[in-house]
Amino acid sequence: MFTKKRLMTPGPTPVLQEALAAMSQPILHHRTPQFSAIFREAADGLKDVFGTKQDVLILAGSGSAAMEGSVSNLVNPGEKVITIDGGKFGERWGLIAKAFGAEVNEIKVEWGHPVDPAVVKAELDKNPDTKVVYATASETSTGTWHPIQEIAALCKDRDTLLVVDGITAVGCVPTPMDEWGIDVLVSGSQKAFMLPPGLAFAALSEKAWKKADATSNRKFYLNFRKEQKSLAKDTTAWTPAVSLIIGLREVMKAIHHEGLDNLYKRHKVLADATRAGVQALGLKLLSSSPSDSLTAAWVPEGVDGGEFVKYCRDKLGVAMAGGQDDLKGKIFRISHMGYVDAFDTLGALSATEMGLAKFGHKVEHGAGVAAAQKVLVEAFPKP
Ligand SMILES: *Cc1c(COP(=O)(O)O)cnc(C)c1O
Repeated sequence: MFTKKRLMTPGPTPVLQEALAAMSQPILHHRTPQFSAIFREAADGLKDVFGTKQDVLILAGSGSAAMEGSVSNLVNPGEKVITIDGGKFGERWGLIAKAFGAEVNEIKVEWGHPVDPAVVKAELDKNPDTKVVYATASETSTGTWHPIQEIAALCKDRDTLLVVDGITAVGCVPTPMDEWGIDVLVSGSQKAFMLPPGLAFAALSEKAWKKADATSNRKFYLNFRKEQKSLAKDTTAWTPAVSLIIGLREVMKAIHHEGLDNLYKRHKVLADATRAGVQALGLKLLSSSPSDSLTAAWVPEGVDGGEFVKYCRDKLGVAMAGGQDDLKGKIFRISHMGYVDAFDTLGALSATEMGLAKFGHKVEHGAGVAAAQKVLVEAFPKP
């Protein structure tokens, strides 16, 4: 049966239509006033989304490039850092920090749970010479939201920076950098930013810039100070991902048009509807602190999660994500990020019902969709 391809994975996500059209135009040279004007508009738009007065660096690379730069620019070999590992991406902070010679104190958190700020405080009290805490706002491997604001408060009055992976947070769930006191906030283009993969973003507080200037660790391509100096001249240190930045300007326009408050409300309502939907089907959420950027749920007993996700993608046209590592085959994940609306969400729930039924799971057809509709209908205006 013919199906359309619907991308409901938590990265990459569907691309904004206006961005797709803009990116199909012939390539511009990047050292021109024409490109600089576009670049400046995109860079200024990002400040609002990050909730900062600081520059937001635009790097050519996936989100992990901004993560790597947040280690190499801020930590010297032998310096102490804390990483919070409650999933695949929290674990990545530890791997990067070790690769750059940091002395890593990993706080292990059971997957699917948020870190307890009291544990972070205890580690900081025990290791007052900790230079950086590396945290994840929305842990995409488990769909878990971490208490970033509380951790920021712990780092504020210490000689410790808080670096936050906001790759599935910035642009869909509020993480106001300046207000909360986050020192470095990083993100990437292919999640909430409605673009193809290939751009990484990083913003640094005054405190973080000071530490960057006092850090001599090895780096070349991802030199944040060099990048910032170029940004001041409306350009980038190296050849930028021109097409993606042209798309980014369209995304900034769309976000501005919708309004950040409406955008956050939309993500919350899509998440609420999805959670209501999967629970109405008798499925359990994985996380005890579910993120509004994606929903992770356990696949019911007797169904192979890997096969289920593959069936939905290849036969129904609805791509959702499965689980990683220990969760492989056991969970599925539905994204709410970016260019996603109520009817995409209902489609994903409908595919979940139909897919599970095909694997012999007893499904009351429409139960999940009905529960989600009850949440969604409230978000639309009266006629
Ligand atoms: C996707 C993701 C990353 C990795 O980003 P890449 O673009 O694949 O390098 C890091 N952290 C989180 C929370 C993510 O969701």
